[in-house]
Amino acid sequence: MSTRFELLGTDGQARIGRVSTAHGVFSTPAFMPVGTAATVKAMTPDALKSTGAEIVLSNTYHLMLRPTAERIARFGGLHRFMGWEGPILTDSGGFQVMSLAGLRKISERGVVFKSHLDGSMHELSPERSIEIQHLLDTDITMCFDECTPFPASFETAKTSMELSMRWALRSREAFKPRDGYGLFGIVQGSIYPELRQESANALTKIGFEGYAVGGLAVGEGQETMFATLETTIPYLPKDRPRYLMGVGKPADIVGAVMRGIDMFDCVIPTRSGRTAQAFTRFGQVNMRNARHADDPRPLDEACQCPACRQFSRGYLHHLIKSEEILGLMLLTWHNLNYYQDLMKGLRGAISEGRLSQFVMDFHAGQATGDIGVTSA
Ligand SMILES: [Zn+2]
Repeated sequence: MSTRFELLGTDGQARIGRVSTAHGVFSTPAFMPVGTAATVKAMTPDALKSTGAEIVLSNTYHLMLRPTAERIARFGGLHRFMGWEGPILTDSGGFQVMSLAGLRKISERGVVFKSHLDGSMHELSPERSIEIQHLLDTDITMCFDECTPFPASFETAKTSMELSMRWALRSREAFKPRDGYGLFGIVQGSIYPELRQESANALTKIGFEGYAVGGLAVGEGQETMFATLETTIPYLPKDRPRYLMGVGKPADIVGAVMRGIDMFDCVIPTRSGRTAQAFTRFGQVNMRNARHADDPRPLDEACQCPACRQFSRGYLHHLIKSEEILGLMLLTWHNLNYYQDLMKGLRGAISEGRLSQFVMDFHAGQATGDIGVTSA
């Protein structure tokens, strides 16, 4: 049997569930930290696990160029290569090659592109993308698709979506079914409800182990993103996980969970950690700000991560100002911990039927803002 999804409960449109894969089980709603180059930057696998992360995402495009999928396969697959024993999802490389403007050529067959590393020529097609993800031994493989640029006219979005649907069928045919491994389809169609529905129906007809909503978080804004989810999700099967790709900020995740999304990935917590931005119950905090210099309090008193349990804001600020590696590590750790705590909170609220209260408290906290030096 492929990957398996169990729907354990609902609260409104929100769902709590469990996905079983060849490398273990993860609970949904789930947040997947991004490990682009076979590492979640600045985190060891044990540290990552301690945040509550159960599944990580890695990138086909980057790994096919360096160190190559064939080399990773010789090491026994991506899990062994990067020392992560849990489930792994890989994207198809589609998103990255599409963003190589001027360096790629799209045809019915696939995409020919120039490596950003050394200028060498490569090809990605549905068949090659699926083959690479097989070599990586990824638990959840994503279909190769064209990420429609934003904004796009109805005609452009339609042509692009239809190409992605033909590629989805070729991806399905190329995928070798194995116990505990699954293939997810990706709904496209930009912000046009009619195209989203057509895409969802086309994918459901082919049949996938999960369904992703792609082509969002590309500049359309939160309101349009939520509206697109509302017109897409009713057309997706209830008994399969739903994944919103590349999202997002905490408020985006909360809103998407309320609308029935089960899985997320985003570079925001890790990237922000490396630019001294911390996420807390009381909004975003810039640890570079001089107001933290004499503050003996932890970043967030309720957080159990090492940055908050062992160190003061003053020390974290000092590390950032001194450009010490530990500063970036600790803020990355904290942000990932915050995201996993948020997912745990959402799962608990859904299972106990108190999601609307949880969401109200979440927004109230975010609106409060960081309090600064008061209790020093
Ligand atoms: Zn923390």
